Amino acid sequence: MNAEPAPLLSVRNLVKTFPLQHPFLWRPGVDLRAVDDVSFDIERGHTMGLVGESGSGKSTIGRAVTMLVPPTSGSIRFEGAEITGLTTAKLRPVRRRFQMVFQDPYASLNPRMRVGGFVAEPLVIHGLMPGPGEREEYVADLFRKVGLDPAFAKRYPHQFSGGQQQRICIARAIALKPSLIIADEPISALDVSIQAQVVNLLQDLQEELDLTYLFISHDLNMVRHICHRVAVIYRGRIVELAPTRELYENPLHPYTRVLLSAISVPDPLVERTRQHLLMDPTLDYGEPDSRLTEVSTGHWLAAARCAVDHTN
Ligand code: ADP
Ligand code: MG
Repeated sequence: MNAEPAPLLSVRNLVKTFPLQHPFLWRPGVDLRAVDDVSFDIERGHTMGLVGESGSGKSTIGRAVTMLVPPTSGSIRFEGAEITGLTTAKLRPVRRRFQMVFQDPYASLNPRMRVGGFVAEPLVIHGLMPGPGEREEYVADLFRKVGLDPAFAKRYPHQFSGGQQQRICIARAIALKPSLIIADEPISALDVSIQAQVVNLLQDLQEELDLTYLFISHDLNMVRHICHRVAVIYRGRIVELAPTRELYENPLHPYTRVLLSAISVPDPLVERTRQHLLMDPTLDYGEPDSRLTEVSTGHWLAAARCAVDHTN
């Protein structure tokens, strides 16, 4: 039999609720469903994009997938094994296999620690390469991999630009040779001029180190550039999921269309005729439930939306 290789990450029916904190809205037993029945797979070596407006639940999905926040329910299979319900001790070796890169590199860095020490810290925590000489050599190599001079290891975070700081965070993220990196808005805080450089670095590292990415972003141009597949998140649910090209050329969900109409195209002719769909705040783009239907190969759409569209 010619079985398909198992996806690196397989998320099924992921739910994460938070107790509602609002002083007037709070009622016992009423929770905010930040992530509401989300399912997706990421193939090895691929990049999956999560897009959606602020507060739609993208970061919570990223954090729940890495068990940084424990999911309320659902299944997460990573490298072929279920990781929800693992004890802290059992989760420890799994944690080496996935890493996160966040939006604000300076907030991730320790201002009082030399950046070389910061990059080496995961090795120390996991008791790897105990000899300082060996570790220093390895850290120097990591610096070279992310395009920094190894001599920079002795400096402190404030001595670097935002782009360099993010490179340092990426060096730390790859130190333990992970297979999955969750990048949560990794370039949003950087100058536009250096965003592409950091994205190019992530792409080069993907190839060199056989990395798989979950790439969270509201920059739809960047997502189009680097993702193999994209899931559109609205109020904690996936409303549409498709291969990138298919999603951008044939968006079916009204919310996806609104998102995509907002991106500018570097072509004055296209730009002049581009229809900018405005988000209508009186409209609810949400779905009555979280079911998706495969409308063409690999293109999934909220099932209720399919029913409506087909009768129209
Ligand atoms: P996004 O990354 O798409 O902007 P988030 O995942 O950060 O969205 O947030 C989704 C929802 O969950 C928001 O309504 C947010 O206020 C809420 N939320 C996120 N983290 C917490 C938390 N630790 N406690 C309570 N509510 C939270
Ligand atoms: Mg976020």
